Amino acid sequence: MPECVPGTDLSLRAHSQIIHMERYSKILTKRKREIVLLRGKGCAYRKCPFCDYHLDSCSDEAANYTLNCKVLEQVTGEFGDLEIINSGSVFELDHDTLEHIREVCRRKKISTIHFESHYLYRERIPALRQLFDGFNLKLKLGLETFDRDFREGILKKGIPDSDPQVISRHFEEANFLFGIRGQSASSMERDILLGLRYFERICINIMCPNTTGIMPDSDVISIFMDDLYPKYRDDERIDILIENTDFGVGD
Ligand code: SF4
Repeated sequence: MPECVPGTDLSLRAHSQIIHMERYSKILTKRKREIVLLRGKGCAYRKCPFCDYHLDSCSDEAANYTLNCKVLEQVTGEFGDLEIINSGSVFELDHDTLEHIREVCRRKKISTIHFESHYLYRERIPALRQLFDGFNLKLKLGLETFDRDFREGILKKGIPDSDPQVISRHFEEANFLFGIRGQSASSMERDILLGLRYFERICINIMCPNTTGIMPDSDVISIFMDDLYPKYRDDERIDILIENTDFGVGD
């Protein structure tokens, strides 16, 4: 497997972590699907202070394409549904990888493909849907919360809009991030209820310790686990990741 050269995009430590990442898995609960973690040129935004996912990147498009082909070789198509993540946005994958995804999905009779995208690329989403004409595309937004002040003041997400209808316009799905100081039972439940109203499906990510300075808040996580998790854990439209590797990919 070709590897990105340490010292270009990645520190040696981050690089040695990332080459051991699981990049293929199956999600066998709720909406059954395969999931792959591909590699792109890296998140163009990179301003979210809680995130170090963007370390999984490489500027060498040929190396990314070779790695991504190997990962995509494992896809069976058994659920007709494939989630593709790449530690950033789909628009940071190279063109050949996108073509290859299309070819694999056609060959394996996969009808539904999920991609992630930052809000800044929203105007490019219609063209992506055209490129994947004939497939049922589900675009997932890293929203984290509908609370604009918290989202932009603390999480620095770069989503300037407040109206849920405007925010959800190009997206079928959204990620939420819970477990950070300042969140409460009512703020998290408001996010869940609005998320279910404006998106087809939502994914709740509980903050985990990582290499950034943002730490999980154990009191907020306890509030979520005690008050909200029992109420929403069986909802078919909600994925809940207590650990960020619960989908089976990552390290
Ligand atoms: S959360 Fe997403 S948009 Fe923000 S820095 Fe990480 S990869 Fe980039």
